[in-house]
Amino acid sequence: MSPDNPLLADDTLPAFSQIRPEHVQPAIDAILADYRAAIDALVAPGAPRDFNHVMLTQERLEQRLARAWAPVSHLQAVADSEALRAVYGPAEEKLTEHAIELGQNRALYAAVQTLADAADFAALPRPERALVEHALRDFRLSGVALAEPARSRFREIGVELSRLSTEFSHAVLDASEAWHEHVTDERDLAGIPASGLAVLRQYAQDQDLDGYLVTLKQPSVQAVLNYADHRGLRERVYWAYQTRASDQGPDAGKFDNSERIEKIMALRHEAARLLGFANAAEESLATKMAASPAEVLEFLHDLAARAKPVAQRELATLREFARAELKLDTLEPWDVAYASEKLRQREYALDEEQLKPYFPLPAVIDGLFGLAGKLYGITLAARDDVDVWHPQVRYYDVRDAAGKVFAGAYVDLYARNGKRGGAWMDVCRARFDDGGQEQRPVAFLTCNFAPPTEGRPALLTHDDVLTLFHEFGHGLHHLLTGIALPSIGGIDGVEWDAVELPSQFMENFGWNRQALDLFARHWQTGERLPDELFERMLAARHFHAGLFLVRQLEFALFDFLLHLEYEPSRGARALAVLEQVRKQVAVLHPPAWQRFPHGFSHIFAGGYAAGYYSYLWAELLSADAFGAFEEQAGESGSVIDRATGERFRREFLAVGASRPALESFIAFRGRKPEPEALLRSYGLG
Ligand SMILES: [Zn+2]
Repeated sequence: MSPDNPLLADDTLPAFSQIRPEHVQPAIDAILADYRAAIDALVAPGAPRDFNHVMLTQERLEQRLARAWAPVSHLQAVADSEALRAVYGPAEEKLTEHAIELGQNRALYAAVQTLADAADFAALPRPERALVEHALRDFRLSGVALAEPARSRFREIGVELSRLSTEFSHAVLDASEAWHEHVTDERDLAGIPASGLAVLRQYAQDQDLDGYLVTLKQPSVQAVLNYADHRGLRERVYWAYQTRASDQGPDAGKFDNSERIEKIMALRHEAARLLGFANAAEESLATKMAASPAEVLEFLHDLAARAKPVAQRELATLREFARAELKLDTLEPWDVAYASEKLRQREYALDEEQLKPYFPLPAVIDGLFGLAGKLYGITLAARDDVDVWHPQVRYYDVRDAAGKVFAGAYVDLYARNGKRGGAWMDVCRARFDDGGQEQRPVAFLTCNFAPPTEGRPALLTHDDVLTLFHEFGHGLHHLLTGIALPSIGGIDGVEWDAVELPSQFMENFGWNRQALDLFARHWQTGERLPDELFERMLAARHFHAGLFLVRQLEFALFDFLLHLEYEPSRGARALAVLEQVRKQVAVLHPPAWQRFPHGFSHIFAGGYAAGYYSYLWAELLSADAFGAFEEQAGESGSVIDRATGERFRREFLAVGASRPALESFIAFRGRKPEPEALLRSYGLG
């Protein structure tokens, strides 16, 4: 091994400051070469056929690759550069090709099948059996049983899809960074609160400009669409944002994803058919908790039937308010968030800006970690001797009740150039017990909050607080895993429609007085979040719940039907399917030039293809799981209950994919999930 290449070092944590783009290709090439040789040895005639030799060997090889690739893939997302991108794309293609090759390795498939066929298989521990069963399922899904030429074709499709996904998300990022509007007259930004202005001023300073820079970064888009009195500015931001990477808008045709959408859909459909599924939606459900397309559609349509009338009433009220109070005779799409914010302020006199001083980021982090301590008996302690990729990043050791370090987390919270928007948790290291040698789980927690400004800490909106809780929930799922087999530990291998349970579950605490009391204090006065403000927060929680739900249902149905109803003869028809869905569930109808699909990275560049419904599905699971904490609070007096927390950890978080999510849910709750829990959490039940 070259000691000069940090990606090949066997360090506990990646040496981020030493990783250079030129390290990527040699490291990946070397690791893949060793990987292939090891697999050849594993499947050689006469090689042992037991769990350790067949399954642990694969886990070990996969971990070596992950130790090199996780930091590279993470850097590409949070510290993007031309040089890194240039090596990232080709390396990613090699990895995809390698994964497909493994999936199509018949000898390896046969070796794993041997384990399942062995007389003592049933006597193996549950996690070991689950690992074998998952591997066999994934083999089938990766085309191993196909005969030529289908196998080769399937392989080509996988590589091509990976390339198209990367291009899709790059186009969205490039389109977002290409557009901005320089504003020198502060009157043009009237209505935007001081914190929003500070962010726009910072963007300008970053480009050595005077005044303000309105961009398509999330904090800027929100500040303008929610608050800017200047209707023309709102319209331009909406126009630029809602046409990113399309044939419309200010950069029409420049980063256009239209052709990529067509190709992605055609290839997904072809791949699904090769595997014997009717379409890509059916293929998607093979790894999900939902049993059939009919079950998904029934779930979504049932919700839509209950939510749409509520949304219609909410919209009528909003229109009336906008006409009477804001002199907006027609409520245009770029007026909706603005009018909605004004109505919310009038109805609940609740301005996000009033709440923000109670959510200084450092205190929220302390409170969140404190909550995890009360629920699960863990502590997180910052370390300053860990190599990170940006000075804003902090690393935390995670300790158990006895003080033993068992996990770690990188926390990177602020928006900056070259960093992908949004918030997410990703795996840096997975928990792995390699014959007594323990690799600790380490997580990446990434957000894009507005950074602190001079003399003031970063102040979060309540939504930001929920986002942070959400991602930390994913983090806990990963960090608290009790499974030392990476492929089925933490979030890995968990059904896609159940994987959001732990994250959405955590959001419930962001609405709970006892949990808020752990951190919600005014950053200047130290005053606790006043009862009166909290009461209004709760009242406002369900404000426009119907409108929110129908929008989520629109995305979920669009995604699912796009994949379910695809036919090669007529193409993807993305805009037509969206229109058809909007007729069914939407109450707001954007202009014809709006191009929502072109920026929908979740389904075209992420893992949510024919799976966006999972958010709502998991929300039902999480609302119902939180119900267990609420029910026991009737006895103990507190929703933050260690015993219930331990049970949730033991039955759900710790078991990962070592058993089906439905079984874990029942083990924790004592029964199956009940749909009413979701409606109650939206105030509609
Ligand atoms: Zn999530």
